[in-house]
This record gives sequence, C-alpha cells and structure tokens, in this order.
Amino acid sequence: MMEDAASSLDNISLSQTLPLSQGSFHQLWNVLTDGVAEDGVRGMDMLLMNEHELTGFDETLFNLPEMSTKETVTPPASTVPVTSDYPGDFDFQLRFRKSGTAKSVTSTYSELLNKLYCQLAKTNPIEILVSREPPAGAMIRATAVYKKTEHVAEVVRRCPHHQNEDRKDNPSAAENSSHLIRVEGSERAQYFEDVNTKRQSVTVPYEAPQLGSEMSTVLLRFMCNSSCMGGMNRRPILTILTLETPEGHVLGRQCFEVRICACPGRDRKTEEENSTKMQNSTKETKKRKSVPSPDSTSTKKPKSGSGTDEEDRECFVLHVRGRERYEMLKKINDGLELLDKEGKAKTKVCMKQEVPLPSSGKRLLRKEERSDSD
Ligand SMILES: [Zn+2]
Repeated sequence: MMEDAASSLDNISLSQTLPLSQGSFHQLWNVLTDGVAEDGVRGMDMLLMNEHELTGFDETLFNLPEMSTKETVTPPASTVPVTSDYPGDFDFQLRFRKSGTAKSVTSTYSELLNKLYCQLAKTNPIEILVSREPPAGAMIRATAVYKKTEHVAEVVRRCPHHQNEDRKDNPSAAENSSHLIRVEGSERAQYFEDVNTKRQSVTVPYEAPQLGSEMSTVLLRFMCNSSCMGGMNRRPILTILTLETPEGHVLGRQCFEVRICACPGRDRKTEEENSTKMQNSTKETKKRKSVPSPDSTSTKKPKSGSGTDEEDRECFVLHVRGRERYEMLKKINDGLELLDKEGKAKTKVCMKQEVPLPSSGKRLLRKEERSDSD
C-alpha cells in the first residue's frame, strides 16, 4: 500500500516536498492540486471532481491517528432498523464472492434468496462498491435484526453459552462478547450498543479501493449459530450494512439474510431448490428480491399460467420518488384496475381466478418509498 501510494505520488511529478508527516489531509490535498494546476495539466474543478481516479490517491494513508473522529460517532437510534435497500447518491452496493454449494464451503451467498450461509465464526468477505468516493471519515456499519415482524423488536445478541465461553477464553474481549457480528482484520473496528435501543452494531472505517481495484472488502464473522438456544433460537436474521458519515448519517444501505449453520453449501442448495419448486408449483409471479434491476424501468412479469392471451398481461414496474407522488399514481392505477375488473365482470362472467395484477408493482413501489423515508 505504501508503495502504491508512493508511486502514484511520483506520477504527479510535484515540485514541492509533501508534508507527509504532519498537517491534515486537506492541507496536503491543497498542495497537491495547486501543484498540478500550476503545471497547467488540469483545472482545479476537474481535479476535485475526479480526485480519486486522476491521482489514484489513497486517502487512508493520511488518516493520522490524531485526526480520528471516532469520539464524535453516534449510532442512529431508530427503534426498528430500516431494512430496505437504499443505494443512495454513492450507489452503495454489496457483492459476494461466488463460492458454490460444495460440502466443504464455509461461506456461500445465494443471489436467488439474497441470503448468506456461513459457519459459526468463519470469515465472510463482503465487497463494498460505491460509484464515487464517500466523504472523508465515512464508515461501514453492520447491524443484525430479526427478519420476522413478531421478533423484530427483540435485539439480536449471542446466546449465553457462547458469551460465557468467550469470556472464559479471552477476558480482555469481554465487552464484545455479546455481539453477534464481528469485523475481522481491522484494528479500527468499533463496537457499539445504542443507549436507548440496546441494539448492537460494529463499525469500520470505509477504505477506498486499492489501486487497480474497484471495490474494498469488509470481513464479517457471525459468532452464533442460527439455531443457538437462548440466542437466535432458529429465528432468521437480516444483516444491515450502512455507509455512514462520521456523524452517523446514512448515505446508503444494503440488507441480506444470514443463516449460520454447520453445512452452508447444503442448506443453500436445499433452500434454493425449495424456493424454485414453490415458485413453479404456485406459478408465483412475485419478483424475486435478489434479481438486480436497479435501472430497468420495466420488468416483464411471467405469464400467469392459464395463458389467457386475449389480455395484455404484461406488467411494468414504475419506481416513484416520494410518498405523495406514489399515492397519486397508485390511486390512478387502482382506479384503472377497478374499471378493468368491472368491465370483465360484465363481459366475461365465467372468468375466475383473477390475478391481482398490481401486486408486483405495489410491492416494489412500497420498497422504494420506504427507502426514502429514512
Ligand atoms: Zn450461540
């Protein structure tokens, strides 16, 4: 990393010596950009817009310890964490490595189910992608929450058995012993418990990708099995990863389900097969969550079984920003649906099993709208 940064600084061919050992990043950056602008290579504005691409500059190199903003960090205190995906202005996305479903695999991710399967305490590399550099001091926070509504109020913690075992083995790590999610490979990981909600989370500073790479990676470990008695107790959980400013404002959010078990490969295979079977047998038309379609303005819905080709059954998904506009468009759509239904009732008396057309669109609209209301 030192070499990369050094060579990238060489490429800029500065005439000044850089104040590497002291001064803030901003001071240093001003020196850098002034130097280049004097050379007449690029304008200042241009540089500021593309600072990372043009210079390949590793900001983390200059995050001196005394500049740390950790003390001012306050975790968000919403009672129930939001679990809708929200890429935000930085197009915050996650990517999981392809691990397959072999017996020996310790961590594997199902795109079909948007679900991570892993073994207890084994490392899960999760790749972080952003479209541009987040503000200096940005961080990644991981929080676990129960997936089902009836459990969502309860805080996810490790089971008493695993907590006690940890305290015995390593008394110095006692303060983190109740945390389900741990970050590995970073001395700068910080563990939080919200004073009001008691929800636990762990943060790690966002690291810009290394030269020649498009993403950075965080390493998560889950410290209980999903089946742990007195802990998760077989209740499914979601993990929320948020990109946040140093003050704790959310810039982007992505969620995925997690199952911690002895045989991740086998369980993923079984659950994917069951899901496919169920989809086929019920001719389920709902859109799968894990299918990425961020930019598609229209999504074709599978034909709904009976093959009534006299109808235009194609469905389109419309992403709407803001609740007010959504409610307005929904009203129009509901009205049109009602008209369709009434028309059919008159002309086609024998037509039964009316497929609720707007279900797919509605679900997505609701999701989009919720993500704005954070
Ligand atoms: Zn446990």
